[in-house]
Amino acid sequence: MDKSSRLTGFYKLSLAERVDWLKEFAGLTEEEAKALSGAAGLGPDQADHMVENVVGVFGLPLGIATNFVINGRDYLIPMAIEEPSVVAGASFAARLVREGGGFVTVSDEPLMIGQIQILDVANPWAARFELLAARGRLLALANEQDPVIVRLGGGARDLEVRVLENSPVGPMLAVHLIYDARDAMGANTVNTALEAIAPVVAEISGGRTLLRILSNLADRRLARAKGVVPVQSLAHGEFSGQDVARGIMEAWAFAAADPYRAATHNKGIMNGVDAVVIATGNDWRAIEAGAHSYAARNGRYTALSTWHVDGNNLVGTLELPMAVGIVGGATRVHPAAKVALKLLGVATARELAEVIAAVGLAQNLAALRALASEGIQRGHMKLHARQVAIAAGAEGELIEQVVQVMIREKTIRLDRAEAILNKLRAES
Ligand code: NAD
Repeated sequence: MDKSSRLTGFYKLSLAERVDWLKEFAGLTEEEAKALSGAAGLGPDQADHMVENVVGVFGLPLGIATNFVINGRDYLIPMAIEEPSVVAGASFAARLVREGGGFVTVSDEPLMIGQIQILDVANPWAARFELLAARGRLLALANEQDPVIVRLGGGARDLEVRVLENSPVGPMLAVHLIYDARDAMGANTVNTALEAIAPVVAEISGGRTLLRILSNLADRRLARAKGVVPVQSLAHGEFSGQDVARGIMEAWAFAAADPYRAATHNKGIMNGVDAVVIATGNDWRAIEAGAHSYAARNGRYTALSTWHVDGNNLVGTLELPMAVGIVGGATRVHPAAKVALKLLGVATARELAEVIAAVGLAQNLAALRALASEGIQRGHMKLHARQVAIAAGAEGELIEQVVQVMIREKTIRLDRAEAILNKLRAES
């Protein structure tokens, strides 16, 4: 796909026109377009095969963030999210970074960590030695479990053994199996390998193995994004570019120094990250667990991104674990996720991980720019007011009318929306 993602006025098109446009852009079939638009897609029968006790399907809005250039290539970004302003924020920030040449991203090999817990070991350090001495045998056994992944160049890479001397139940060992999951997220694959080697691990260590499960702190599988924005592009309203750039740096410094702020700073990043993770059928709990545990890796929870002013540019970076797949899990099962992956046109799980990191950084920039200038509510107000109006029961033209009154009154509350709605209905 060499087409530009710089779509002026995409938001002004009708829903049907946007879908038609995407069909053209990504060469989608009629069926694929329907899966995206919600006209078809995941149905109850298919859902019934995915999880237990199914009674239906739960929908989420699917939006397209525009303007993204990542490593010189244009991307349209599918985002599944219920929160207003996120898709618009990502598109806006991507346009700013586009002016600085677009995002640059890099990522690690798709290495997951699987853990085996060993208890009741007489001499943990001696057991550790014996396990490391048997490294080759254990890796070979792990690799017998998934010949497909091994053939594709993945599989067990390394073995590490950690002695946890002071757990609440006494000393224990944690064996780490380092496993290249290629284009899969890797949870099932790694867990299968762990279960296969656990009996041998128990025998070699002389202990009792208990848990055999991957770690979501996927810190060998980091994705990184960098974005540069010319300071003058940040000027808006009464705010100069310099003021906004400095404000963004100061806002980041607050998050770097304070966990209370860092939690919200990172939540803003995850607004973008999760929306793409969900749209592509990936496990967002895994990504959330990885992101926040990585943010606390030095013993104090901090910001996942950095921002600083460098001459005439504002420079941002983001680094976080990104265990996502383009095969496995629901990625090839959920009809809309399959189309989302086609739309992104990513060739590998690493490429997807890097795109998601860029979206996270864009979302962070959008939030900080608003917070460090006019505040978040002004841009948010109209969309928020729409949701409140709908929650109050407004439909059709009444939605906009209720929104207008609430914005004029600067009071966006459910009780007020209900009162306005009752009045409008009584008048009509
Ligand atoms: P999976 O088992 O569905 O698919 C992976 C398989 O696809 C591999 O075994 C491999 O044989 C095959 N494959 C084909 N082409 C491949 C390629 N190019 N690269 C890699 N593998 C390829 O999926 P998974 O990624 O092992 O597991 C993901 C699922 O596990 C998710 O649904 C997740 O929710 C779930 N899960 C998560 C956790 C956790 O995060 N703690 C725990 C358990 C399960």
